[in-house]
Amino acid sequence: MHPFSYTRASDTREALDAGRRGGRYIAGGTTLVDLMRETVERPEALVDISGLPLDEVTVTEGGGLRVGALVTMSEAAAHPQVRTLFPVVSQALELSASAQLRNMATIGGNIMQRTRCTYFRDVTADCNKREPGSGCAALHGHNRAHAILGTSEACVATHPSDVAVAFAALEASVRLLGPDGERRVSFADFLLRPGSTPQREQGLRKGELITAVDIPAQPRPLRSGYLKVRDRQSYEFALTSAAVALHIRGGVIREAKVAAGGVGTVPWKLPAVERRLVGERPSAALWPAAAEHASEGARPLRHNRFKIELLKRTVERQLRVVGGTQ
Ligand code: SF4
Repeated sequence: MHPFSYTRASDTREALDAGRRGGRYIAGGTTLVDLMRETVERPEALVDISGLPLDEVTVTEGGGLRVGALVTMSEAAAHPQVRTLFPVVSQALELSASAQLRNMATIGGNIMQRTRCTYFRDVTADCNKREPGSGCAALHGHNRAHAILGTSEACVATHPSDVAVAFAALEASVRLLGPDGERRVSFADFLLRPGSTPQREQGLRKGELITAVDIPAQPRPLRSGYLKVRDRQSYEFALTSAAVALHIRGGVIREAKVAAGGVGTVPWKLPAVERRLVGERPSAALWPAAAEHASEGARPLRHNRFKIELLKRTVERQLRVVGGTQ
């Protein structure tokens, strides 16, 4: 591990000052400390923000939720309002990592976590995300777990977060505080596709701090849920996953929010699936017809072609679970 300085911010202003000077924010530390041990990350200064007052879940006007950046994954998953209003968020959190990690890791850290691409974590391998311009060992290496959507010639790594898939489906936004004040960025704009600069993963400005994730109010009643398909039942990342939320009134689907994980370089919203559902009556024939659109635009690699069919089946199954057969 490389030497670094450590300061604990006592208030937001102190944190922002340190962030502006190039300090890296740390709270639960479940991703960053691992990467520092492996020398993948070598920050010179850490700013501990775990004492800042960003640890509440509040109901916003109209019935949305604001989840503070320092709420832990287990606190968010167990929160009564999260469980009642957005089960898809609760389920995505409970299917992530281990109980010990969920007790430490925060919501802000979760959406900032870096890819699990094994080449990224192997400092002897070529990796454009770790060392821009060095190449991508995964393109012609073992790429079974990699992305089929949103990829580029520079990087094909998946985004590892489950709850980010639920946030993307629900069209959440990220609240940021920086030297120039506060702003809100939609989830779709916050996490960046790799393009030719895979080392740039979030639309953050220098020194900006995530303060919360806002989940907008949704029409009620809303049914929602998360399905994760993986090689083993626990402590494993998704091969594919589906976050689904449906507003069904009068026997007709009025609104549909669907996103997929394990397949994209960012959590992958599925607008074509959503469009196919809205205005239809739930039926056994509707779910596969809508899910057929899930893999549109996919570009499989040598070892992950199976994800095209697996994604469709994952989405179909979760539509059926959430939508039922009314
Ligand atoms: Fe690095 Fe991305 Fe290639 Fe993995 S897929 S080796 S993270 S450039």
